[in-house]
Amino acid sequence: MSFPSFRSRRWRRTEALRRLSQEVELSARQLIAPLFVKEGIRDPVPISSLPGQLQHTLSSLVQEVGELVEVGVGAVILFGIPARKDPVGSGAWDDEGVVQSALRALRSEFGDRVVLVADLCLCEYTDHGHCGVLADGPETVDNDRTLELYGRIAVSQARAGADVIAPSGVMDGQVAAIRRALDAAGFPHTAILSYAAKFASSFYGPFRDAAESAPRFGDRRSYQLAPPNLRAALRRVEEEVAEGADAVMVKPALPYLDVLRAVRERCAVPVAAYCVSGEYAMVHAAAQRGWLDLPSAMLEVLLAIRRAGADWILTYFAKDAARLLR
Ligand SMILES: [Zn+2]
Repeated sequence: MSFPSFRSRRWRRTEALRRLSQEVELSARQLIAPLFVKEGIRDPVPISSLPGQLQHTLSSLVQEVGELVEVGVGAVILFGIPARKDPVGSGAWDDEGVVQSALRALRSEFGDRVVLVADLCLCEYTDHGHCGVLADGPETVDNDRTLELYGRIAVSQARAGADVIAPSGVMDGQVAAIRRALDAAGFPHTAILSYAAKFASSFYGPFRDAAESAPRFGDRRSYQLAPPNLRAALRRVEEEVAEGADAVMVKPALPYLDVLRAVRERCAVPVAAYCVSGEYAMVHAAAQRGWLDLPSAMLEVLLAIRRAGADWILTYFAKDAARLLR
């Protein structure tokens, strides 16, 4: 059948017809809000490159999560900024550390009403800002020595109440090492959401201000994935699913929707996409200049990520989008 019999506009004629024929939904429960909690501050600190986002104190964090729960956001992911850093990032597995304290506070306040995800990495905790312990050779970070530390962090986060551990350091073997450590410590039910396809992207800039985690020297290209390489990303995803990842992530989202689609088609576990700080900042910056309409651009971005195949979206838009979706 072709024109004039075929008329695609029949399904777009009225709001009711458009609503009926919508293929993909976006709902608040699919959103995961990234939150920063900083040790040793009295008041929350605004992050200038992420409008509306804060470095939280424990009490402002609890209040923020209350608002997120209220609008139906499905989960939060916590990033900690410790008062002190050292070469191995020992603050990351301190049972009294900033993320561990935050997890306990949130669990006692909200019970099981919101899923608590703990980002697992060393870059916020090391004085050099890399995601693992330094190597002598050209590879920057010593992969295998770092794995043992990731295991310790995971156990400490699980003990503090994390439902989900999300390793973001892109070390090989990280999922297997974390699974083994969790199981050995009596946490077989703690899930792993792996940043399996995390690219060395220039869209992370504002996050590094927020998390105070910019590397002091060099960059992360020896461990994060190369932007042109889809097949390399798929191989890594396959490996981390085989190691026991309960869900996998593609990061960033918008510049990597093709990767997201390919990952979705190849694996049965839930797939998350991280709409990163630079994507959020870019939309906000344009909106501030009057070049984009913020609410509609925000929802279009998130719907596009859903259409490409994400079950969950980590996004700084979580609260605003959830309000618009009510
Ligand atoms: Zn890191």
